[in-house]
Amino acid sequence: MQMSLLAEPDSRLHVRSEAVLGVDGAVAELISDMFETMYAFRGIGLAAPQVDVRLRVIVTDVSPGENTAPNPIAMVNPEIVWVSDHDAQMREGCLSVMGHFGDVSRPAEVRVSFYTFTGNPRNYPLGGGLLATCIQHEVDHLDGILFLGHLSALKRNMILRKTLKGTKPGSCLCFEKGIARILSEIFAFGPRA
Ligand SMILES: [Zn+2]
Repeated sequence: MQMSLLAEPDSRLHVRSEAVLGVDGAVAELISDMFETMYAFRGIGLAAPQVDVRLRVIVTDVSPGENTAPNPIAMVNPEIVWVSDHDAQMREGCLSVMGHFGDVSRPAEVRVSFYTFTGNPRNYPLGGGLLATCIQHEVDHLDGILFLGHLSALKRNMILRKTLKGTKPGSCLCFEKGIARILSEIFAFGPRA
């Protein structure tokens, strides 16, 4: 089921989400709905608070385009357990701040620990690139932080003024994906080796 997205400004986007205590069918259903919502809005990442669920759950798919196989990854209680010394800058956007983008510097590489949708613990290094950025962006959401919080006050206020005038439909994190995904594949959660 596709869910409604919260849009900035909304105080619910600035609250720390709670840990999932047990990965059960309700969590798997939430993940399924989050994937459906993320793909419907052509996003490459979505965090539960963006659909007004205050739980530490994120989904991503950073596979590059229409002709590429989907690569859905769901993480329950994700935690960044290591970050590299060197940073990388990427242009970010957000399904909760549609149509606006900003250049954000984050650690280029991270290691993340999480539980899968079946409750199995995982711990993966994410080398540089879009996935490392996307996971950090989504984990920020779980702590009530939007990418706008990483921009200069000048740039942030410019975007906030525009969002107050009304959001325009736009693309989401980093780049647009002009495709509708095959949702039957979404239960292949988990990073590919
Ligand atoms: Zn976002």
